[in-house]
Amino acid sequence: MYHPNVLAPLERRISPEACPALVLNADYTPLSYYPLSLWSWQDAVKAAFLERVDIVAEYDREIRSPSFAMRLPSVVALRQYVRPATHPAFTRFNLFLRDRFTCQYCGSKEDLTFDHVVPRAYGGRTTWTNVTTACARCNLRKGGRTPEEAGMHPRTPPYQPTSFQLQEAGRAFPPHYCHETWRDFLYWDVELEA
Ligand SMILES: [Zn+2]
Repeated sequence: MYHPNVLAPLERRISPEACPALVLNADYTPLSYYPLSLWSWQDAVKAAFLERVDIVAEYDREIRSPSFAMRLPSVVALRQYVRPATHPAFTRFNLFLRDRFTCQYCGSKEDLTFDHVVPRAYGGRTTWTNVTTACARCNLRKGGRTPEEAGMHPRTPPYQPTSFQLQEAGRAFPPHYCHETWRDFLYWDVELEA
């Protein structure tokens, strides 16, 4: 259901062998649901030493030196609350996320592209409120026409989402890998496949 070109790099980040740490804000909610906020164990250990985070849960795996041993953190929480920007950046990924990785004309989740609802030739701009997610087929079919000319209207008219709205959209996409210690902090409503 995911567009492989967009998501491949994210999936690679969630590699269990790398012992990533789930990063929580100071209120113990994930900094980001999707992509899930994860740090490498090296970054998590470093932040713990700098006292920027508290270690909330740990892996069984240890790192050792002659004078020192510690279990790798699996969940860390920032000591200082990070307030999300009110309006998220206008990026290709965020736009797909706003539209739930779904073509706004036919509902397909394959071959996703972007469509200028009002075509550029008509003065349509590349903005949150004029760009929508469209599959390649619908994009081709609509061509350089307005929704009225093509008889094709996006299911949800494009809008500028708030960070909260994007966070909520991200909750619909559980990670392909989820360590057992992360579960308490993630989802009530989505069944996770470990
Ligand atoms: Zn479509």
